[in-house]
Amino acid sequence: MHNLSGKLKLKYLMIGLIILAFLLSLASSLYSSYQRSINVLENQTLEKNRVYALKLSQIVNLYLDQSLQVLEYSAAKIADQMDNEELLNYEASRLLYQQNAFNSVVIANKNGLMLAGAPEKNGLKGTVITSEVGTQQIKNQVPSISDPFRATTGKLLVTVSYPIFTSNGNYQGVVNGSIYIHESNFFESILGEHQYQDGSNVYVVDSNGKIIYHLVKSRLGVDVSNNKVVQRIEEGDSGAQLVTNQWDEEMLAGFSPLEKANWGVVVQTPHEVAINSVGNQVLTTFYFELPLLIISIIIVLLLAAKITKPLQQIATLTENSINESEMGNINRLNAWYYEASQIKKALIQSFSFLHGQVSILKDENTIDPLTSLTNRRALDTVLHSWTVQGKMYSVIMLDIDHFKSINDTYGHAVGDDVLKFLSIQMRTTVREQDLCCRYGGEEFIILLPETGVEEAYDIAEHLRKNVEGTTSPIGKTVTFSAGIAGFPKQAGNSKKLIEVADNALYEAKKLGRNRVVIAKEELF
Ligand code: GH3
Ligand code: MG
Ligand code: MG
Repeated sequence: MHNLSGKLKLKYLMIGLIILAFLLSLASSLYSSYQRSINVLENQTLEKNRVYALKLSQIVNLYLDQSLQVLEYSAAKIADQMDNEELLNYEASRLLYQQNAFNSVVIANKNGLMLAGAPEKNGLKGTVITSEVGTQQIKNQVPSISDPFRATTGKLLVTVSYPIFTSNGNYQGVVNGSIYIHESNFFESILGEHQYQDGSNVYVVDSNGKIIYHLVKSRLGVDVSNNKVVQRIEEGDSGAQLVTNQWDEEMLAGFSPLEKANWGVVVQTPHEVAINSVGNQVLTTFYFELPLLIISIIIVLLLAAKITKPLQQIATLTENSINESEMGNINRLNAWYYEASQIKKALIQSFSFLHGQVSILKDENTIDPLTSLTNRRALDTVLHSWTVQGKMYSVIMLDIDHFKSINDTYGHAVGDDVLKFLSIQMRTTVREQDLCCRYGGEEFIILLPETGVEEAYDIAEHLRKNVEGTTSPIGKTVTFSAGIAGFPKQAGNSKKLIEVADNALYEAKKLGRNRVVIAKEELF
């Protein structure tokens, strides 16, 4: 019993199993939600950056376009009055201060001599443009936007240049607006005003893959032509992709080329930052699933409790030795499904029988002193109760062959030993539920509950062969004859049944002894 109660109970095993199943399914659902969320966040960020890069490139394009138009307007205005110093000064200042597009403005003649400049403090007026980019722009006589270059002043700048032609088509020079890369400029007013609180950043590259705009000034002029998205910009692509930067950081980058200037805009968000909120999303999934999960667990636990209840009750009732009152408890137990009901039935059957035996065996008056088998009185009691219950059973009635002569030859004491010997043979041959009785003298009866006559015959034959094949106390083997009858098929009551069995036994003797005969008589 100790062993049994030390083991895990079915109920707890079921609860453990159910909780394990729920935890596993929760873990797998959270994991897939985690993967899905990462995917969604990546795609959202890529799409957002793609659209943003496109938008920014359109705005910068528009701005550069407007800058060219403004210069075009001025060029037309001054074309026929290149010697009007006042007008040129006015126009240079107007371009600088009204447009707010440039860090400086100069008007130069076709030889590169600067006729006017703003701001005036730069002192450019009167000097000659010598930079390669500047001289090229004067020579080319077409509107252009340069890549960044280092001017004679030492500043890194981009020049937007427009040629000046008189009304009759004579080339006069250029009006140039410069954007100083390292100073506040129009990029900043367009791109820098956006707040990138989510860790995103924007940069602009020139046609050589050098950074010409970045909020972090130290990045200006850095060559990023190795970057995959910069290479794609150079190929004229726009779009978005995951890219690893020079510090091995994964970036979700949107990019778009800037047609006006052969530049490109990149908007990027660190991958780590983009998926930062995945924990929250998974948590949201978890909270969303939680109520349903709790309800499911409760339902399943209730069902588990209902399933384990009958078995649990049976276990409790059998854990302590069963007495008559607990038998009643087993009877009342609601074994609502197949397995439990089978166990209940088997328990009731075996315990009823056990009680029959136990109560009889408890009484010293029911035991035969010579053989220790149940005596005739007890046999009658058991038979009576079985008959009242309407229980099906068989009886084997057996009698030692020529016992008188054994007594005569070996003496009464040896005769007694033979009786004991047969009792032991009976006990060891019959099944646990069978009851062996000494009916009187050298006659015995075996009661076989829930047993038909054919099965009883097999058992009797088995016993007969055992006895026949075993040396008895007389130094030789002895034999017996037996008659079998079954209740309720062959008799209406136990007394009659024994009579029927006795007749079969007589038949066996008549047929030559050492044999088993099933009674012929049938009631119906
Ligand atoms: P059968 O094969 O026809 O049964 O022959 P049998 O000699 O066994 O038949 P019978 O009924 O004539 O003999 C039974 C004998 O059993 C008579 C009696 O002395 C003996 N007997 C009865 N009770 C006891 C007992 O308790 N101890 C001993 N030793 N002998 C007993
Ligand atoms: Mg006899
Ligand atoms: Mg006999």
